[in-house]
Amino acid sequence: MAKITLRQLLDDAAERGYGVPAFNINNMEQGLAIMEAASAVDAPVIIQASRGARSYAGDIMLSRMIDALVEMFPHIPLCLHQDHGNSEATCATAIQHGFTSVMMDGSLKADATTVADYTYNVDITRRVVQMAHWIGASVEGELGVLGSLEHGSSEKEDGHGAEGALGHDQLLTDPDQAVEFVGATEVDALAIAMGTSHGAYKFTRKPDGEILAMRVVEEIHRRLPNTHLVMHGSSSVPQPLQDMFNAFGGEMPQTWGVPIEEIVLGIKHGVRKVNIDTDCRLAMTAAFRKVALQSKSEFDPRKFLKPAMDALRDLCRERFEQFGTAGNASRIRPIPLAEMARRYRSGALKSERMTKAA
Ligand SMILES: [Zn+2]
Repeated sequence: MAKITLRQLLDDAAERGYGVPAFNINNMEQGLAIMEAASAVDAPVIIQASRGARSYAGDIMLSRMIDALVEMFPHIPLCLHQDHGNSEATCATAIQHGFTSVMMDGSLKADATTVADYTYNVDITRRVVQMAHWIGASVEGELGVLGSLEHGSSEKEDGHGAEGALGHDQLLTDPDQAVEFVGATEVDALAIAMGTSHGAYKFTRKPDGEILAMRVVEEIHRRLPNTHLVMHGSSSVPQPLQDMFNAFGGEMPQTWGVPIEEIVLGIKHGVRKVNIDTDCRLAMTAAFRKVALQSKSEFDPRKFLKPAMDALRDLCRERFEQFGTAGNASRIRPIPLAEMARRYRSGALKSERMTKAA
């Protein structure tokens, strides 16, 4: 099996009504844990790397690691996706290093902190879509600014996140504008803002419709039934992981993430890609803390890393099962990039969306 594009994977997910978690990685241990989980339940995989991950591991290390994972798990289709690309150059160099999909986040300017206007977003996203589609890679765009409806601001993660106060008009994607944006840019997937934010501190209470606006997802899906929607900041920050982290010397204030049942509801309404990073980080670091506190003479890094990988594997497996991703890998035959490029050129992928929408 080979790498798969985001577009092909999400088309399959839409046809069969499942969602795909997108897990961030920075190192070998995370890659192995995710693939072991996928392999155990026959799930296709989206692995994404942020700009921070690319500078942490280096592009060569990251891309060779992915090549190794593809070779080790030949039965699992793997999409390698650039998370929050900030410019044409970030997206182009990702594709150069073997990414089959990129996110062009034009909701923010290239500094990844200044909120951009709609025209800027359309222009840069459209340019990246043209470039990526020439070679068959997929593009995720974003409309609306990710951030909390509770306190009207964005949480910074890896240096990425809007600065300053944000109004509800910015924090909630406008459905009319979403229709216009998808038509103008021809993105393969659309990330929308509906109250989720990056990091662990998403909500100060279990979220209701006031602070997690699932109605926005439903409305956009009603208007764009054939557009693949993406939920960012969709870790659930499970209570048992918070408890374990704190039981072994951690100091994480009580917090709430996005409940699994809300994500499952989103999947019923066109959400096909669900970004999860915090849960993975927390699963691993809670395991580190346990070893550090319980085995104080331990100095073999593997004795820390192995339980952390096991914890991450179990978490990923649970998400594959909860989102309906499990059981779909062996059925999928990845389409090569060159063939995807041909389909974009011929208008086949565009007309498919138009006819289905009609
Ligand atoms: Zn994100």
